[in-house]
Amino acid sequence: MTEIERHSYDVVVIGAGGAGLRAAIESRLQGKKTAIISKSLFGKAHTVMAEGGAAAAMGNANPNDNWQVHFRDTMRGGKFLNNWRMAELHAKEAPDRVWELEHWGALFDRTKDGKISQRNFGGHEYPRLAHVGDRTGLELIRTAQQKIVALQQEDHKEFGDYDARLKVWAETTVTRLLLDGDRIAGVFAYVRETGKFVIFEAPAVVLATGGIGKAFKVTSNSWEYTGDGHALALLAGGTLLNMEFVQFHPTGMVWPPSVKGILVTESVRGDRGILKNSDDKRFMFEYIPEVFKDKYATTPEEADRWYDDPDNNRRPPELLPRDEVARAINSEVKAGRGSPHGGVFLTVVGRMPGGAEEIRRRLPAMHHQFKELADVDITQEAMEVGPTCHYVMGGVEVDPDTGAALVPGLFAAGECSGGMHGSNRLGGNSLTDLLVFGRRAGLGAAEYVDSLGEGRPAVPEAEVESATTEALAPFERKGGENPYAVHAELQQTMNELVGIIRKQEELEQALESLDKLRERVANVSVEPVAVNDGRGYHPGWHLALDLRNMLLVSEAIAKAALERTESRGGHTRDDHPGMSADWRKVNLVCRLTGDPGNPRVELKRQPMEPMREDLITLFETDELKKYLTAEELPGAAKDTG
Ligand code: FAD
Repeated sequence: MTEIERHSYDVVVIGAGGAGLRAAIESRLQGKKTAIISKSLFGKAHTVMAEGGAAAAMGNANPNDNWQVHFRDTMRGGKFLNNWRMAELHAKEAPDRVWELEHWGALFDRTKDGKISQRNFGGHEYPRLAHVGDRTGLELIRTAQQKIVALQQEDHKEFGDYDARLKVWAETTVTRLLLDGDRIAGVFAYVRETGKFVIFEAPAVVLATGGIGKAFKVTSNSWEYTGDGHALALLAGGTLLNMEFVQFHPTGMVWPPSVKGILVTESVRGDRGILKNSDDKRFMFEYIPEVFKDKYATTPEEADRWYDDPDNNRRPPELLPRDEVARAINSEVKAGRGSPHGGVFLTVVGRMPGGAEEIRRRLPAMHHQFKELADVDITQEAMEVGPTCHYVMGGVEVDPDTGAALVPGLFAAGECSGGMHGSNRLGGNSLTDLLVFGRRAGLGAAEYVDSLGEGRPAVPEAEVESATTEALAPFERKGGENPYAVHAELQQTMNELVGIIRKQEELEQALESLDKLRERVANVSVEPVAVNDGRGYHPGWHLALDLRNMLLVSEAIAKAALERTESRGGHTRDDHPGMSADWRKVNLVCRLTGDPGNPRVELKRQPMEPMREDLITLFETDELKKYLTAEELPGAAKDTG
């Protein structure tokens, strides 16, 4: 019989990025015994890679900024498909969450008068990103970890045990949520080092597992982004929202091949960087869409004046939302005006008043990254950049106030949850999303646990048995498929057929390929290694288990992309290039149906809840008309038409 360790908690948080840590801190502050489970090393979540900053309308750099302006920018960026309640909560609460981080010890860059400095970013009307050079995510994680240690020290004083109410389980991967009827009862996991299985019994689970980038071949995401939280929610009966919206960041490295996809932060453009094609033309002026025409400069002179005088000039088009810039780069490359390695040029040479020294000071990580990885000195030469799969807007469908998913006891926050960013996320809005909704999910989970009283769910043995059988299956199958080969084909399929520009035939072809891959994923096999029952640090086995998740999210993305016959934000249909006001009223919701052993993704159209009157009146009627149907316009707005 397989030996399985058991532990009992009130709340289990899966993921130790910004969302997971903030949720765990909140759950512990509410007095709940909390576990943080992370498949990577503690401190090595994706959040540490966030460079640009955290968007919060603190008004430090421009006193005109406030939550209403931030709310408007977020809705515009998401092309009005955002869950407006989430966008409202985010815009209102982000400043408090940033100040809270500072109270916990974060050291943000300062303005001359000593306030938290805020920088420009695409789609944000005012400088809004609180930052620490270009290493903001690292500071966020460092601070949250410091807070966790402080809480553990308090617990040590009270209980003589650091882990009494908050324990970190690093390098431990969750493969199944365990249910008692339809309620969450715990999670099933394996320890990566030993391959041993562990059950965490808990009535509440917060998913904070991040994104899905590893389903695509070219991505800025690292190895742990395999869509685990998305898949775990689906498999437990939860739903995913608007999975067709995948953000391709406009600027990833394109050369050398070994680093293709690695992010070149948007701060480069926020700090005066410009995009040029092989004709040395600053091409973004050709790509300002109708809905943004009045907000972006039409000449290089005006664009350059904006950096020093933003009140009297319009923004440079390099700072359009990411989806617009990514599509523009794609078009330039397709038109034969790309750089030698299939991207375009991004340059800061001669653009900063303080010259090379200022470039090194403002963009230290980028300077280092290009020097080390591509032997390019960005103070002297242009960077070559192109689109890379970066972020998924789609995610677990949650209640905006509490983070509760449809499954009782299940909560989600951060990149693995859906709704907040609509069809396209603005840069910087993720880090504050993690803090705002991580806190709310931790609170929601704690309140849910309180509501249960004595009636807590218990983990049924049958659930444990089937999770164990599933986890061991790749060892049982002999001579099956190589997980790496299957993964490479999945990534190729998603990149080529469900990538930045989509069309019906290709999406149908992708779904056929995914169907075939489903059989191959069910047949992957691995050989035991020499230690720990054959399962100690076994990357092939880990990938074999992750493939189930990547396949499910890929199917959800491809199905939703085929269904949505319009182009909006992170979903561009070559055969349906326009944005449709009717489609804006529709959320596409995925769930699993059919044989639990071989489930299929089913898609439903779900109407959007109309925006609250006081929020809708924050926008000009003429702007609303670009997005909403006539009957959605508020009465007053219709009259002023
Ligand atoms: P993560 O930080 O990725 O954490 C996920 C956690 O879940 C990890 O601990 C992982 O190990 C764990 N996990 C996953 N699956 C399992 C499992 N099955 N079992 C156990 N643990 C699991 N956003 C901004 O707002 N500003 C920026 O400047 C910015 N820059 C970025 C730069 C880069 C290069 C990238 C890739 C993204 C950037 N983003 C930025 C986006 C932002 O960093 C992410 O969206 C955000 O950090 C996601 O945080 P999270 O807490 O949801 O997930």
